[in-house]
Amino acid sequence: KGSLVVVGTGIQTVGHITPEAIAWIKWADTVLYLVADLVAENAILKIKPDAQTLEHLYEKNKPRYLTYRQMMNRMIDSVRNGNRTCVALYGHPGVFAYPAHAAIRKLREEGYEARMLPGVSAEDCLFADLNVDPATYGCQSYEATHFVLTRRRPDTSASLILWQPDSFGHVLSSLDVRQSAIAVLAEYLAKFYSLEHRLCIYEAPMYIGCAPRMDWVKLGEFTQAKLTPASTLYFPPAEVAPMDHALAQSLGLPSMAQV
Ligand code: SAM
Repeated sequence: KGSLVVVGTGIQTVGHITPEAIAWIKWADTVLYLVADLVAENAILKIKPDAQTLEHLYEKNKPRYLTYRQMMNRMIDSVRNGNRTCVALYGHPGVFAYPAHAAIRKLREEGYEARMLPGVSAEDCLFADLNVDPATYGCQSYEATHFVLTRRRPDTSASLILWQPDSFGHVLSSLDVRQSAIAVLAEYLAKFYSLEHRLCIYEAPMYIGCAPRMDWVKLGEFTQAKLTPASTLYFPPAEVAPMDHALAQSLGLPSMAQV
């Protein structure tokens, strides 16, 4: 009977892929993959020479939902055809990976074994490189376009992470209006943060021996910054969250000032 395991290759594949993920890739009858760089692709092909990429399903002017549906169907069909199927996706395979989650849900409904293994995501790398603990102030994490379209109000006393800033507004507009789309993002953020507030344009290194990109820029200068498909934005808190000292005392907890 067919089954599905979705594994992550991490951001820096050679260093991040787990022995467990490698074992599943080796053991599978069929391996499908979607990764961000050639080193990652070569690493997978070295483990499983007949692994098949899903990359070609992305096509210019093809609606993204159609691509995702086709990816999901490839995974599901492979399992229904009786294959032990392993899908390898870069980073954590469950972070920004709609087709994998949808395929797992559908296959489980049909009585197949389907599961996902965690991997190292860009956010995990960010916590390590920027020396940020999400527990200290709390941490919000949004896809940039979704954040603005759904008019989210960030808690400025917690950290804020925005994914996919480079493709902000692409769902709505063409590439040549990218700069004005980024201005829309900056303008929205300026409702909550001062133009002097510094954010970090973060890019985790994909190759061993390379340094991360950690460019701190003022929000007021953000529209001039160069963004790439590997950019993630990190906003440190702009203020301290007020503490309910009376409640802390009644619970017998020290107030934050004493911790
Ligand atoms: N599954 C991936 C993960 O676990 O990190 C996320 C893939 S998502 C489709 C693409 C977004 O991930 C990018 O727009 C960016 O925000 C972030 N990303 C991907 N590679 C990155 C890197 N090397 N450094 C920082 N962020 C990265």
